[in-house]
Amino acid sequence: MHDASPAPLLPPPDPSAAGISLFLDFDGTLVEIAARHDGVVVDDSLRALVRALAEGLDGRLAIVSGRTAAEIVAYLHAADTAPPFAIAGSHGLELRWTDGRREAPAHPDALDLILTAFAAFADAHPGVVTEEKPFGAALHYRGAPDAADACDAFASRLAAEHGLELQRGKMVAELRLAGGDKGDAVRRFMADPAMAGTTPIFLGDDITDEAGFVAAAALHGWGVQIGDTPLTTARYRLPDVAAVHRWLSHIAGVSA
Ligand SMILES: [Mg+2]
Repeated sequence: MHDASPAPLLPPPDPSAAGISLFLDFDGTLVEIAARHDGVVVDDSLRALVRALAEGLDGRLAIVSGRTAAEIVAYLHAADTAPPFAIAGSHGLELRWTDGRREAPAHPDALDLILTAFAAFADAHPGVVTEEKPFGAALHYRGAPDAADACDAFASRLAAEHGLELQRGKMVAELRLAGGDKGDAVRRFMADPAMAGTTPIFLGDDITDEAGFVAAAALHGWGVQIGDTPLTTARYRLPDVAAVHRWLSHIAGVSA
């Protein structure tokens, strides 16, 4: 027997805030993944860290998440003012810039039908939780891991029927409008004068973050994988959320 797994990736170097743009996933990167998707806990120290980062980077900070932009604002900003960071929500379908510009597509026509079908499916599979999103709907099966294949097959069939995209994640199968991913979000933000010409660094923990790693590398930057995944295009790795906070604190120039 020999071990065919690749050598583990090393932690990233501590970059100076000058000349970089940071793209951060939310769940599993900035916050621990919760037992339920609505059970995430964000404490004041994380909000303060994000604020300090945004300041240190002079706005070259973007949160790139499968969650809606509104959720990201509620978790990380919690103030009436505009957030000092850009947001790509709903897997890159919603874009918000720090100067107030916003882009979002129309709601999919079939959303009501899909939500009804998902609700019936969840009733038949205890532990499965449905989530309505502005541009899609999700089946979460963290509470029913045995239903993973059934969730995937059901979501896959509905995706084909309604011309939507199936987005797989950790313990979730999500239907969403086609088009846009985390890589597109990186390219759009990097085209903006505030970030153009800087080195993009993308931190994420899940399959959906691979598009962000690839986009960052194509723009002469790099990705940081959080936690373990068998194969990744990221150049570096940090073991967990606590390590992410420490690394970000160095960039922000605050103590962790
Ligand atoms: Mg994540």
